[in-house]
Amino acid sequence: MTASSTAVEALLSGLSTIRDWQEDFYRDLHAHPELSHQEYETARKVAARLRDRGYVVHDRIGGTGVIGVLGNGPGPTVLLRADMDALPVKESTGLDYASTVQATDTNGNEVPVMHACGHDVHVTALLGAAQLFADGADHWSGTLITLFQPAEETADGARAMVDDGLAELLPTVDVAFAQHVLPAPAGQVGTRAGAVLSAADSMRIKVYGRGAHGSMPQAAVDPVVLAAMIVIRLQTIVAREVAPGESAVLTVGSIQAGSKSNVIPDRAELQLNIRTYSRQTRTTMLDAIRRIVTAECQASGSPREPGFEVFDQYPLTDNDLPTTSRVSDAFTTFFGRRCQSASRARPQDDRGSGGGRAAGALLREHRGRSRRGGGQCAGGVQVSAGLLVPMAHARWERSGLTRNCGTVVTGTEKQMSTSGSYRHRTGPTAKRLAASNWH
Ligand code: ZN
Repeated sequence: MTASSTAVEALLSGLSTIRDWQEDFYRDLHAHPELSHQEYETARKVAARLRDRGYVVHDRIGGTGVIGVLGNGPGPTVLLRADMDALPVKESTGLDYASTVQATDTNGNEVPVMHACGHDVHVTALLGAAQLFADGADHWSGTLITLFQPAEETADGARAMVDDGLAELLPTVDVAFAQHVLPAPAGQVGTRAGAVLSAADSMRIKVYGRGAHGSMPQAAVDPVVLAAMIVIRLQTIVAREVAPGESAVLTVGSIQAGSKSNVIPDRAELQLNIRTYSRQTRTTMLDAIRRIVTAECQASGSPREPGFEVFDQYPLTDNDLPTTSRVSDAFTTFFGRRCQSASRARPQDDRGSGGGRAAGALLREHRGRSRRGGGQCAGGVQVSAGLLVPMAHARWERSGLTRNCGTVVTGTEKQMSTSGSYRHRTGPTAKRLAASNWH
Protein backbone atom coordinates (compact mmCIF):
# COMPACT_ATOMS: atom_id res chain seq x y z
CA MET A 1 0.00 0.00 0.00
CA THR A 2 1.37 3.41 -0.91
CA ALA A 3 1.54 6.35 1.43
CA SER A 4 -1.06 8.23 -0.62
CA SER A 5 -3.57 5.38 -0.59
CA THR A 6 -3.13 5.06 3.16
CA ALA A 7 -3.87 8.74 3.49
CA VAL A 8 -6.97 8.39 1.36
CA GLU A 9 -8.24 5.52 3.42
CA ALA A 10 -7.63 7.51 6.57
CA LEU A 11 -9.69 10.38 5.20
CA LEU A 12 -12.43 8.11 3.92
CA SER A 13 -12.72 6.40 7.28
CA GLY A 14 -14.71 9.42 8.39
CA LEU A 15 -17.41 8.79 5.81
CA SER A 16 -19.64 6.87 8.16
CA THR A 17 -19.65 9.78 10.59
CA ILE A 18 -20.96 12.33 8.10
CA ARG A 19 -23.65 10.36 6.33
CA ASP A 20 -26.42 11.18 8.80
CA TRP A 21 -26.09 14.93 8.59
CA GLN A 22 -25.49 14.71 4.85
CA GLU A 23 -28.80 12.91 4.40
CA ASP A 24 -30.65 15.54 6.42
CA PHE A 25 -28.81 18.40 4.76
CA TYR A 26 -29.54 17.03 1.30
CA ARG A 27 -33.24 16.56 1.97
CA ASP A 28 -33.47 20.07 3.40
CA LEU A 29 -31.76 21.55 0.33
CA HIS A 30 -33.95 19.52 -1.99
CA ALA A 31 -37.08 20.72 -0.23
CA HIS A 32 -35.92 24.35 -0.28
CA PRO A 33 -34.43 25.04 -3.70
CA GLU A 34 -33.52 28.58 -4.76
CA LEU A 35 -33.37 30.06 -8.24
CA SER A 36 -30.18 31.38 -9.82
CA HIS A 37 -28.84 34.50 -8.04
CA GLN A 38 -31.30 33.90 -5.21
CA GLU A 39 -29.32 31.23 -3.32
CA TYR A 40 -29.32 33.23 -0.08
CA GLU A 41 -30.40 30.52 2.34
CA THR A 42 -28.31 27.86 0.63
CA ALA A 43 -25.25 30.10 0.82
CA ARG A 44 -25.96 30.89 4.46
CA LYS A 45 -26.16 27.20 5.34
CA VAL A 46 -22.99 26.46 3.41
CA ALA A 47 -21.03 29.28 5.03
CA ALA A 48 -22.17 28.27 8.50
CA ARG A 49 -21.08 24.68 8.02
CA LEU A 50 -17.71 25.70 6.60
CA ARG A 51 -17.04 28.05 9.52
CA ASP A 52 -18.01 25.28 11.87
CA ARG A 53 -15.27 23.10 10.39
CA GLY A 54 -12.61 25.79 10.73
CA TYR A 55 -12.55 27.15 7.20
CA VAL A 56 -11.78 30.79 6.47
CA VAL A 57 -15.00 31.79 4.74
CA HIS A 58 -15.63 34.54 2.22
CA ASP A 59 -19.25 34.94 1.23
CA ARG A 60 -21.45 37.20 -0.93
CA ILE A 61 -18.95 36.92 -3.76
CA GLY A 62 -20.68 37.78 -7.00
CA GLY A 63 -23.96 37.91 -5.11
CA THR A 64 -24.31 34.66 -3.21
CA GLY A 65 -21.01 32.87 -3.95
CA VAL A 66 -19.11 31.33 -1.04
CA ILE A 67 -15.56 30.08 -0.69
CA GLY A 68 -13.98 28.30 2.24
CA VAL A 69 -10.20 28.13 2.50
CA LEU A 70 -8.43 25.52 4.62
CA GLY A 71 -4.70 26.12 4.89
CA ASN A 72 -2.77 23.05 6.00
CA GLY A 73 0.91 23.68 5.46
CA PRO A 74 3.01 23.49 2.32
CA GLY A 75 1.75 21.70 -0.74
CA PRO A 76 -0.57 22.10 -3.68
CA THR A 77 -3.67 24.25 -3.71
CA VAL A 78 -6.73 22.29 -4.76
CA LEU A 79 -10.08 23.86 -5.56
CA LEU A 80 -13.32 21.91 -5.32
CA ARG A 81 -16.44 23.47 -6.75
CA ALA A 82 -20.17 22.94 -6.41
CA ASP A 83 -23.02 24.88 -7.99
CA MET A 84 -25.98 25.81 -5.79
CA ASP A 85 -28.91 26.98 -7.91
CA ALA A 86 -32.15 25.20 -8.84
CA LEU A 87 -34.45 25.35 -11.86
CA PRO A 88 -37.91 26.79 -12.53
CA VAL A 89 -39.42 23.32 -12.69
CA LYS A 90 -42.43 21.91 -10.86
CA GLU A 91 -41.56 18.77 -8.91
CA SER A 92 -43.96 15.89 -9.28
CA THR A 93 -41.93 13.06 -7.81
CA GLY A 94 -44.15 12.41 -4.83
CA LEU A 95 -41.11 12.28 -2.57
CA ASP A 96 -41.83 13.16 1.01
CA TYR A 97 -39.20 15.88 0.74
CA ALA A 98 -40.33 17.13 -2.67
CA SER A 99 -40.15 20.85 -3.27
CA THR A 100 -43.33 22.92 -3.14
CA VAL A 101 -41.39 26.17 -3.42
CA GLN A 102 -42.62 29.02 -5.60
CA ALA A 103 -40.43 32.02 -6.37
CA THR A 104 -40.35 35.11 -8.54
CA ASP A 105 -37.99 34.87 -11.48
CA THR A 106 -36.06 37.71 -13.10
CA ASN A 107 -39.00 38.43 -15.40
CA GLY A 108 -41.33 38.90 -12.46
CA ASN A 109 -43.12 35.62 -13.03
CA GLU A 110 -44.14 33.35 -10.17
CA VAL A 111 -42.57 29.97 -10.94
CA PRO A 112 -42.19 26.60 -9.21
CA VAL A 113 -38.64 25.75 -8.17
CA MET A 114 -36.93 22.38 -8.00
CA HIS A 115 -33.43 20.99 -7.64
CA ALA A 116 -33.98 19.17 -10.92
CA CYS A 117 -30.33 19.35 -11.97
CA GLY A 118 -28.86 17.76 -8.86
CA HIS A 119 -27.00 20.75 -7.49
CA ASP A 120 -28.29 19.81 -4.07
CA VAL A 121 -26.21 16.65 -4.39
CA HIS A 122 -23.17 18.67 -5.41
CA VAL A 123 -23.42 21.02 -2.43
CA THR A 124 -23.93 18.17 0.01
CA ALA A 125 -21.05 16.17 -1.41
CA LEU A 126 -18.66 19.10 -1.26
CA LEU A 127 -19.59 19.93 2.32
CA GLY A 128 -18.96 16.30 3.18
CA ALA A 129 -15.53 16.48 1.63
CA ALA A 130 -14.86 19.74 3.42
CA GLN A 131 -15.47 18.04 6.74
CA LEU A 132 -13.40 14.96 5.87
CA PHE A 133 -10.44 17.10 4.84
CA ALA A 134 -10.74 19.22 7.95
CA ASP A 135 -11.07 16.22 10.27
CA GLY A 136 -8.26 14.37 8.49
CA ALA A 137 -5.82 17.24 8.26
CA ASP A 138 -3.04 15.08 9.71
CA HIS A 139 -3.06 13.01 6.52
CA TRP A 140 -2.45 15.67 3.88
CA SER A 141 -0.82 19.04 3.45
CA GLY A 142 -1.49 21.94 1.18
CA THR A 143 -4.42 24.29 0.77
CA LEU A 144 -8.00 23.26 0.08
CA ILE A 145 -10.45 25.73 -1.40
CA THR A 146 -14.12 24.84 -1.46
CA LEU A 147 -16.07 27.04 -3.84
CA PHE A 148 -19.86 27.23 -3.97
CA GLN A 149 -21.00 28.95 -7.09
CA PRO A 150 -24.32 30.65 -7.70
CA ALA A 151 -26.25 30.86 -10.95
CA GLU A 152 -24.82 28.02 -12.96
CA GLU A 153 -28.10 27.59 -14.79
CA THR A 154 -28.00 31.12 -16.10
CA ALA A 155 -24.36 30.80 -17.15
CA ASP A 156 -23.25 33.92 -15.31
CA GLY A 157 -22.57 32.92 -11.70
CA ALA A 158 -18.91 32.05 -12.21
CA ARG A 159 -18.32 35.26 -14.11
CA ALA A 160 -20.03 37.22 -11.36
CA MET A 161 -17.65 35.74 -8.77
CA VAL A 162 -14.62 36.49 -10.91
CA ASP A 163 -15.79 40.04 -11.59
CA ASP A 164 -16.31 40.51 -7.86
CA GLY A 165 -12.62 39.91 -7.17
CA LEU A 166 -12.52 36.18 -6.55
CA ALA A 167 -8.91 35.90 -7.70
CA GLU A 168 -7.82 38.36 -5.02
CA LEU A 169 -9.23 36.08 -2.33
CA LEU A 170 -7.55 32.89 -3.54
CA PRO A 171 -4.01 31.60 -3.44
CA THR A 172 -2.68 30.22 -6.74
CA VAL A 173 -4.81 27.25 -7.73
CA ASP A 174 -2.93 24.18 -8.97
CA VAL A 175 -5.86 21.97 -9.76
CA ALA A 176 -9.64 22.30 -9.58
CA PHE A 177 -12.41 19.72 -9.70
CA ALA A 178 -16.08 19.65 -10.54
CA GLN A 179 -18.72 16.97 -10.53
CA HIS A 180 -22.20 16.63 -11.92
CA VAL A 181 -24.92 14.04 -11.50
CA LEU A 182 -25.66 12.39 -14.82
CA PRO A 183 -27.81 9.49 -16.01
CA ALA A 184 -25.80 6.36 -15.19
CA PRO A 185 -26.35 3.25 -13.13
CA ALA A 186 -26.49 4.10 -9.45
CA GLY A 187 -23.28 3.42 -7.63
CA GLN A 188 -21.07 4.05 -10.62
CA VAL A 189 -18.26 6.50 -10.91
CA GLY A 190 -16.55 7.41 -14.13
CA THR A 191 -14.50 9.82 -16.10
CA ARG A 192 -13.49 10.51 -19.64
CA ALA A 193 -10.59 12.32 -21.22
CA GLY A 194 -11.13 14.83 -23.99
CA ALA A 195 -14.39 16.44 -24.98
CA VAL A 196 -17.08 15.23 -22.62
CA LEU A 197 -19.68 17.97 -22.49
CA SER A 198 -20.62 19.95 -25.55
CA ALA A 199 -20.17 23.64 -26.01
CA ALA A 200 -23.53 25.36 -26.14
CA ASP A 201 -24.67 28.58 -27.72
CA SER A 202 -28.12 30.06 -27.91
CA MET A 203 -29.02 32.58 -30.58
CA ARG A 204 -31.95 34.93 -30.98
CA ILE A 205 -32.66 35.94 -34.57
CA LYS A 206 -35.02 38.68 -35.66
CA VAL A 207 -36.10 38.80 -39.29
CA TYR A 208 -38.16 41.54 -40.83
CA GLY A 209 -40.94 41.59 -43.41
CA ARG A 210 -43.65 44.02 -44.42
CA GLY A 211 -47.01 43.68 -42.72
CA ALA A 212 -50.30 43.60 -44.62
CA HIS A 213 -53.82 42.27 -44.39
CA GLY A 214 -53.98 38.54 -44.82
CA SER A 215 -56.03 38.94 -47.99
CA MET A 216 -53.28 40.98 -49.67
CA PRO A 217 -50.11 38.89 -49.62
CA GLN A 218 -48.87 40.73 -52.71
CA ALA A 219 -48.44 43.82 -50.57
CA ALA A 220 -46.47 42.00 -47.89
CA VAL A 221 -43.10 40.48 -47.27
CA ASP A 222 -44.27 37.61 -45.15
CA PRO A 223 -41.88 36.97 -42.22
CA VAL A 224 -43.72 33.78 -41.32
CA VAL A 225 -42.83 32.21 -44.66
CA LEU A 226 -39.33 33.65 -44.35
CA ALA A 227 -38.87 32.16 -40.88
CA ALA A 228 -40.20 28.82 -42.08
CA MET A 229 -37.71 28.75 -44.94
CA ILE A 230 -34.92 29.57 -42.51
CA VAL A 231 -35.90 26.71 -40.21
CA ILE A 232 -35.81 24.24 -43.08
CA ARG A 233 -32.57 25.54 -44.51
CA LEU A 234 -30.86 25.49 -41.11
CA GLN A 235 -31.33 21.73 -41.02
CA THR A 236 -28.77 21.43 -43.81
CA ILE A 237 -25.96 22.79 -41.66
CA VAL A 238 -25.44 19.65 -39.59
CA ALA A 239 -26.40 17.40 -42.50
CA ARG A 240 -24.27 19.05 -45.17
CA GLU A 241 -21.63 21.28 -43.59
CA VAL A 242 -20.45 19.35 -40.53
CA ALA A 243 -18.03 16.56 -41.27
CA PRO A 244 -19.21 12.96 -40.77
CA GLY A 245 -17.88 11.81 -37.42
CA GLU A 246 -18.25 15.23 -35.88
CA SER A 247 -21.13 15.54 -33.49
CA ALA A 248 -23.35 18.62 -33.53
CA VAL A 249 -26.93 19.65 -32.89
CA LEU A 250 -28.90 22.65 -34.05
CA THR A 251 -32.38 23.05 -32.60
CA VAL A 252 -34.88 25.81 -33.34
CA GLY A 253 -36.59 25.86 -30.00
CA SER A 254 -38.81 28.88 -30.49
CA ILE A 255 -40.44 30.67 -33.40
CA GLN A 256 -42.74 33.62 -32.83
CA ALA A 257 -44.62 35.84 -35.29
CA GLY A 258 -47.95 37.58 -35.50
CA SER A 259 -51.05 37.25 -33.34
CA LYS A 260 -54.02 36.94 -35.70
CA SER A 261 -54.94 34.61 -38.50
CA ASN A 262 -55.77 37.34 -41.01
CA VAL A 263 -52.85 39.70 -40.50
CA ILE A 264 -49.42 39.21 -41.99
CA PRO A 265 -46.98 40.45 -39.34
CA ASP A 266 -43.90 42.55 -40.02
CA ARG A 267 -41.35 40.52 -38.11
CA ALA A 268 -40.55 37.09 -36.73
CA GLU A 269 -38.21 35.89 -34.00
CA LEU A 270 -36.45 32.55 -33.81
CA GLN A 271 -34.44 31.13 -30.94
CA LEU A 272 -31.81 28.50 -31.65
CA ASN A 273 -29.64 26.24 -29.56
CA ILE A 274 -26.36 24.93 -30.93
CA ARG A 275 -24.27 22.09 -29.43
CA THR A 276 -20.77 21.31 -30.65
CA TYR A 277 -17.66 19.40 -29.58
CA SER A 278 -14.95 21.38 -31.32
CA ARG A 279 -14.11 25.02 -31.85
CA GLN A 280 -13.94 24.51 -35.59
CA THR A 281 -17.42 23.00 -35.79
CA ARG A 282 -18.76 25.68 -33.53
CA THR A 283 -17.37 28.41 -35.78
CA THR A 284 -18.64 26.61 -38.87
CA MET A 285 -22.16 26.43 -37.48
CA LEU A 286 -22.37 29.96 -36.18
CA ASP A 287 -21.04 31.33 -39.46
CA ALA A 288 -23.42 29.14 -41.48
CA ILE A 289 -26.43 30.30 -39.50
CA ARG A 290 -25.65 33.94 -40.17
CA ARG A 291 -24.98 33.24 -43.83
CA ILE A 292 -28.22 31.30 -44.36
CA VAL A 293 -30.42 33.71 -42.45
CA THR A 294 -28.98 36.72 -44.26
CA ALA A 295 -29.38 35.03 -47.63
CA GLU A 296 -32.96 33.92 -46.92
CA CYS A 297 -33.86 37.45 -45.89
CA GLN A 298 -32.43 38.71 -49.14
CA ALA A 299 -34.30 36.02 -51.09
CA SER A 300 -37.57 37.11 -49.47
CA GLY A 301 -37.00 40.79 -50.13
CA SER A 302 -36.73 41.60 -46.44
CA PRO A 303 -36.64 45.38 -45.94
CA ARG A 304 -34.15 45.22 -43.05
CA GLU A 305 -31.05 43.29 -42.19
CA PRO A 306 -31.71 40.46 -39.70
CA GLY A 307 -30.64 40.86 -36.10
CA PHE A 308 -28.51 38.27 -34.28
CA GLU A 309 -28.00 37.96 -30.55
CA VAL A 310 -25.93 35.16 -29.06
CA PHE A 311 -26.61 34.36 -25.41
CA ASP A 312 -26.25 31.60 -22.80
CA GLN A 313 -22.87 30.54 -24.12
CA TYR A 314 -21.07 27.62 -22.49
CA PRO A 315 -17.56 26.55 -23.40
CA LEU A 316 -16.59 23.00 -24.31
CA THR A 317 -15.64 20.72 -21.42
CA ASP A 318 -12.44 19.24 -22.78
CA ASN A 319 -10.65 17.11 -20.22
CA ASP A 320 -6.93 16.95 -19.86
CA LEU A 321 -5.65 13.45 -20.57
CA PRO A 322 -2.88 13.07 -17.95
CA THR A 323 -5.04 14.52 -15.20
CA THR A 324 -8.02 12.41 -16.16
CA SER A 325 -5.81 9.33 -16.15
CA ARG A 326 -4.72 10.03 -12.59
CA VAL A 327 -8.29 10.47 -11.49
CA SER A 328 -9.39 7.36 -13.33
CA ASP A 329 -6.61 5.30 -11.74
CA ALA A 330 -7.61 6.51 -8.32
CA PHE A 331 -11.24 5.71 -8.96
CA THR A 332 -10.38 2.24 -10.17
CA THR A 333 -8.37 1.64 -7.03
CA PHE A 334 -11.16 2.64 -4.71
CA PHE A 335 -14.28 1.74 -6.64
CA GLY A 336 -13.15 -1.24 -8.64
CA ARG A 337 -15.67 -2.28 -11.26
CA ARG A 338 -17.96 0.52 -10.23
CA CYS A 339 -15.56 2.86 -12.01
CA GLN A 340 -16.52 3.03 -15.67
CA SER A 341 -15.37 5.06 -18.59
CA ALA A 342 -18.00 7.75 -18.87
CA SER A 343 -19.78 8.10 -22.15
CA ARG A 344 -19.68 11.46 -23.80
CA ALA A 345 -22.77 13.40 -22.81
CA ARG A 346 -24.61 13.83 -26.09
CA PRO A 347 -26.46 17.11 -26.38
CA GLN A 348 -29.64 15.35 -27.48
CA ASP A 349 -29.78 13.16 -24.38
CA ASP A 350 -33.11 13.49 -22.64
CA ARG A 351 -32.80 12.95 -18.95
CA GLY A 352 -36.53 12.86 -18.52
CA SER A 353 -37.00 9.69 -20.47
CA GLY A 354 -33.54 8.19 -20.47
CA GLY A 355 -32.42 8.78 -16.93
CA GLY A 356 -34.95 6.70 -15.08
CA ARG A 357 -33.54 5.75 -11.72
CA ALA A 358 -30.04 6.15 -12.95
CA ALA A 359 -27.79 8.61 -11.29
CA GLY A 360 -24.25 9.77 -11.46
CA ALA A 361 -22.02 12.71 -11.04
CA LEU A 362 -19.68 14.37 -13.38
CA LEU A 363 -16.39 15.40 -12.02
CA ARG A 364 -14.61 18.08 -13.84
CA GLU A 365 -10.98 18.76 -13.19
CA HIS A 366 -9.00 21.74 -14.27
CA ARG A 367 -5.30 21.66 -14.10
CA GLY A 368 -3.05 24.63 -14.52
CA ARG A 369 -2.56 27.92 -12.84
CA SER A 370 -4.61 30.83 -11.78
CA ARG A 371 -4.56 34.12 -13.57
CA ARG A 372 -2.15 35.29 -10.94
CA GLY A 373 0.33 32.78 -12.25
CA GLY A 374 1.45 29.63 -10.57
CA GLY A 375 2.58 26.08 -10.91
CA GLN A 376 1.38 23.02 -12.68
CA CYS A 377 -0.75 20.20 -11.41
CA ALA A 378 0.47 18.65 -8.20
CA GLY A 379 -0.59 16.00 -5.74
CA GLY A 380 -3.97 15.71 -4.14
CA VAL A 381 -5.76 14.49 -7.24
CA GLN A 382 -6.24 10.98 -6.00
CA VAL A 383 -7.31 12.08 -2.59
CA SER A 384 -9.98 14.38 -3.95
CA ALA A 385 -11.18 11.90 -6.50
CA GLY A 386 -11.32 9.09 -4.00
CA LEU A 387 -13.56 11.17 -1.83
CA LEU A 388 -16.06 11.64 -4.62
CA VAL A 389 -15.93 15.30 -4.17
CA PRO A 390 -14.37 16.82 -7.19
CA MET A 391 -15.70 20.13 -8.42
CA ALA A 392 -15.25 23.11 -10.82
CA HIS A 393 -16.60 23.77 -14.24
CA ALA A 394 -15.90 24.65 -17.79
CA ARG A 395 -16.54 28.30 -17.38
CA TRP A 396 -13.85 28.66 -14.78
CA GLU A 397 -11.47 27.90 -17.56
CA ARG A 398 -12.92 30.76 -19.53
CA SER A 399 -12.58 32.99 -16.50
CA GLY A 400 -8.81 32.59 -16.56
CA LEU A 401 -8.69 31.24 -13.02
CA THR A 402 -7.86 27.79 -14.25
CA ARG A 403 -7.11 26.09 -17.49
CA ASN A 404 -7.01 22.56 -18.84
CA CYS A 405 -9.20 19.93 -17.36
CA GLY A 406 -10.30 16.32 -16.77
CA THR A 407 -13.62 14.60 -16.02
CA VAL A 408 -15.24 11.97 -13.86
CA VAL A 409 -18.72 10.58 -13.49
CA THR A 410 -19.96 9.08 -10.25
CA GLY A 411 -23.14 7.64 -8.84
CA THR A 412 -24.33 6.65 -5.41
CA GLU A 413 -27.47 5.17 -4.00
CA LYS A 414 -28.15 8.47 -2.37
CA GLN A 415 -28.36 10.06 -5.76
CA MET A 416 -31.04 7.64 -6.82
CA SER A 417 -33.59 9.60 -4.90
CA THR A 418 -32.53 12.70 -6.74
CA SER A 419 -32.62 11.09 -10.11
CA GLY A 420 -36.00 9.69 -9.30
CA SER A 421 -37.27 13.18 -9.76
CA TYR A 422 -36.66 12.88 -13.46
CA ARG A 423 -38.97 9.99 -14.01
CA HIS A 424 -42.14 11.96 -14.49
CA ARG A 425 -40.80 14.61 -16.76
CA THR A 426 -41.67 14.50 -20.40
CA GLY A 427 -42.13 16.93 -23.23
CA PRO A 428 -41.04 20.55 -22.89
CA THR A 429 -39.95 20.19 -19.30
CA ALA A 430 -37.74 17.27 -20.08
CA LYS A 431 -36.29 19.10 -23.05
CA ARG A 432 -35.65 22.13 -20.94
CA LEU A 433 -33.73 19.96 -18.54
CA ALA A 434 -31.86 18.23 -21.28
CA ALA A 435 -30.86 21.57 -22.64
CA SER A 436 -29.78 22.96 -19.33
CA ASN A 437 -28.48 20.08 -17.35
CA TRP A 438 -25.32 19.44 -19.20
CA HIS A 439 -24.09 22.84 -18.23
ZN1 ZN B 1 -26.48 21.27 -13.39
